[in-house]
Order: sequence, then structure tokens, then C-alpha cells
Amino acid sequence: MVEAARQTLEAARARILSAGAPDLEAAVAAPPGAETRGDAGRADLVEAVLARLDRLLRPGPRPLINATGVLLHTNLGRAPVSRAAAEAMARAASGYSDLEYALDSGSRGSRHDLLLPLIRQLTGAEAALVVNNNAGATLLMLSALALGRGVVVSRGELVEIGGGYRIPEVMAAGGARLVEVGTTNRTRIADYAAAIDETTALLLRVHTSNYRIVGFTEAPRLEDLVALAAERGLPLVDDLGSGSLLDTARFGLASEPMVPHSIAAGAALVSFSGDKLLGGPQAGIIVGRADLVARLRKHPLTRAMRPDKASLAGLHATLLHYARGEAEREVPLWRMLAADPADLAERAAGWRAALAERGIRARVEPGRSTVGGGSLPGETLPTRLLALDSAHPDALAARLRAAEMPLIGRIAEGALLLDPRTVLPDEDAALLESLSWALSGADGSGARGSA
Ligand SMILES: *Cc1c(COP(=O)(O)O)cnc(C)c1O
Repeated sequence: MVEAARQTLEAARARILSAGAPDLEAAVAAPPGAETRGDAGRADLVEAVLARLDRLLRPGPRPLINATGVLLHTNLGRAPVSRAAAEAMARAASGYSDLEYALDSGSRGSRHDLLLPLIRQLTGAEAALVVNNNAGATLLMLSALALGRGVVVSRGELVEIGGGYRIPEVMAAGGARLVEVGTTNRTRIADYAAAIDETTALLLRVHTSNYRIVGFTEAPRLEDLVALAAERGLPLVDDLGSGSLLDTARFGLASEPMVPHSIAAGAALVSFSGDKLLGGPQAGIIVGRADLVARLRKHPLTRAMRPDKASLAGLHATLLHYARGEAEREVPLWRMLAADPADLAERAAGWRAALAERGIRARVEPGRSTVGGGSLPGETLPTRLLALDSAHPDALAARLRAAEMPLIGRIAEGALLLDPRTVLPDEDAALLESLSWALSGADGSGARGSA
């Protein structure tokens, strides 16, 4: 409190000095960045201290409501984990565990063995290794298997994922030499074959997660790449990005590449994310040949990228949902993917009715949700949106972000749109609260009626 008071006073002094304010009290009391107010007094100064304390003490990252309709929103923390996963994470974090301890022998164990049986069972792979995230997994595979040597990859797969993660740069950071083959739209198996020489370490396939090349295109089948790699005695490494353990085609979407399929097709190593379509905590999962995974495990980067106990516990609980065949029911991501359009329509209508009771007008209209998070580009799911017409949708969006429980929607054609698909089942009351706060202009900004 003392620190907050000092900082508030310091900011007020700085304002007085820079503004040469005629009204001393007003200048002192104005909250940071605000216009000087005429009726200000010491009470406002106290309020400014309390607001500063509030910002300091509230939880971070701040919980918010994702009504964007983007299921895997990287800016909003990607996949929400299941209740069982969240409980497992809290339990692992708040107590001791056999993270690196063999209970039967009382000797040192390895965190890397905890998930092995489950991952093997679910993917059909011989061996597995979990690291912090899939970006780390790619870097590790390249560093451990291709240092100073060539990695053959199609020009159509030189992906940038976002956040500055670019395949050619990861390659350089991993000490591997990029050997580009083919063209942006067409790459044939013969292009790979011609590029292989005695310096080649491996063939790399990168899933074009967040874009799609359409039209006059060609790419070799995974089976053909595997056959070529085997013929030359090289491993084929498959970076699936999201990857999936369930077939997304069952939800009316295109098929996102499935991990068991890549393993069955003969990829030497396959990597995928923990918090994309798997719907678990952040992690990078590498599966494949035991001899190659053993080499990865010995690499010093593995120690630098080892996952935290809470992530491992959350991942374990998430994988269990798949092993029990209950992922569609228990993993929030799959529940959202599988949501019945009739239920979404009912929920949006319920929001509209609840707002009408508070004197706020809104419409329900058809729309589309997207998966996001570097998976299924261009693929959408039908949904029902709550639409708030507004002359200033940007201002309304800003006000919703400022709510006690921030509410994030999207703007299209002069309306703020809220998609029930990504709003978690227990968030309806908070959503209505944030909406009525933002639209009633509780602080006198008078937003009501503009929507
Ligand atoms: C998303 C993605 C990555 C990075 O995975 P993170 O788990 O976000 O680190 C790497 N490669 C591809 C192809 C991806 O789509």
C-alpha cells in the first residue's frame, strides 16, 4: 500500500510539474493518463491508489471470456484444459510427487518415463519424449540429428507459425543446413531424391498449419517420402504442428493430420503440440523410433527444455481422456468442436433474452467459428452469434476489455459479434454481467442506446 501510495503521488507530482497545472488538487487527483477533472479531491487520490493496488494484486494471466469463436486462440492461451487435467496440475504443483523417483526401488527415476506407456498406446510409436513445446521439439530434433548437415524440405513448407517462429530460422538455430527443394506450389518426390547427398541428415516434412496452397499444387504422399528416406538410409521427420488423436473430419471439417497415421506410415519421428488439437497444457511431444528418441534424450537441449511437473501431470490427465475414449466429452476443445448448432442457437437466444430484460437490444445471426491455433486453415463450423449493433464497435470492444471480467468478441460490419461456441458453460452469467456493465455506462460514459 505504501508503495502504491508513493507511485501515485510521484505520478501526480510529475503531472503537476509537466503541466504547470493551475488547479493543484485536480492535477494531484487525476488518475494516470486521464484528463484533469474539476471536481477532484483527496478522495480521488485515494481511489487512484486503490486502483493501482487492484492492478498489482489481481491474478495474472487474467482470466477472460473468449467469445471470438476461435477455439485455439494463441493470444488467449490456446486450449483450456479439462477439469481433471486442471486438478492434476494443481495437485502436482502444490505437493511432492515421484516426478524423478522410482517408488519400487527407491532410486532416481526419470520424468521422461511417466507418459511413455500412454503415448505409446495412443500413437503406436515405439518411444516418446516430451519437451516444453513443439517449437522446442523441432529445434531439438534438428540439433540432435542434423548438426552441420543438410535437411531436405519442400519450398511449400517453409512455414512461419507466428511469434517469429520460422522454419528456416529454426533450422539455422539448430545448426542444420536448409536444403530447399521444389517450388512454392509443387514439389515432387524426384525433387527430394535429387537433393540427397552424403551430407544429408534427414528429410523433413512440415505441416502447413496456418495456410493452404490451392490450385495448381502437388506434394508427395507421406508414404512415398518414407520409402525414399528408407531407400537412402535416412530418417523422415514429420512436424505435424497441431497433430490430432481424433479425426476432425467427424465434425464436418477437413482432416487434420493424425499422429497414429504418421507413425503407421513409417515416419521416423513425429512431433506435435500439447495445447493445440490435443487440448492439453503447453508441451511438445516427440514420438517415433526408439534409437532416435534415445539420441534426443542424451542431447543437452533436452535438459534445457524439460517440461515442468504441472505440465506433465496435465498432459497425463489429458492423454487419459483419449485412452478412455472420453475425450469428446471431457476435453473442452473437443466439446466445443462437437457443439450442436441447435444448442449454440439456444444459448445465443438466451443471452439476447437476458439482455432484453436489462433494456439492451441485440440480434442473433448465423456465423462461423474457426479452429485457429495453427490448424485447419480456412475451415469453419456453423454457429449462431449474438450481434450488438453499434456506431462505435471499437469503443464497445474496448469497454468490454475493460470489464472486471474482460469479454473478447470480434467486429464485423459495424457490429460486435459474440460466439457462444468458445464461451465455457459456466461463463454465461459473467458474460451478461460484463455486457450490461459495458453497455449501461456505469461510469457515466453512456454507452447504452449506442448499441
Ligand atoms: C504450432 C507449430 C509449431 C510450434 O508449436 P508450439 O507448441 O506452439 O511451440 C511448430 N511447427 C508447426 C508446423 C506448428 O504448426
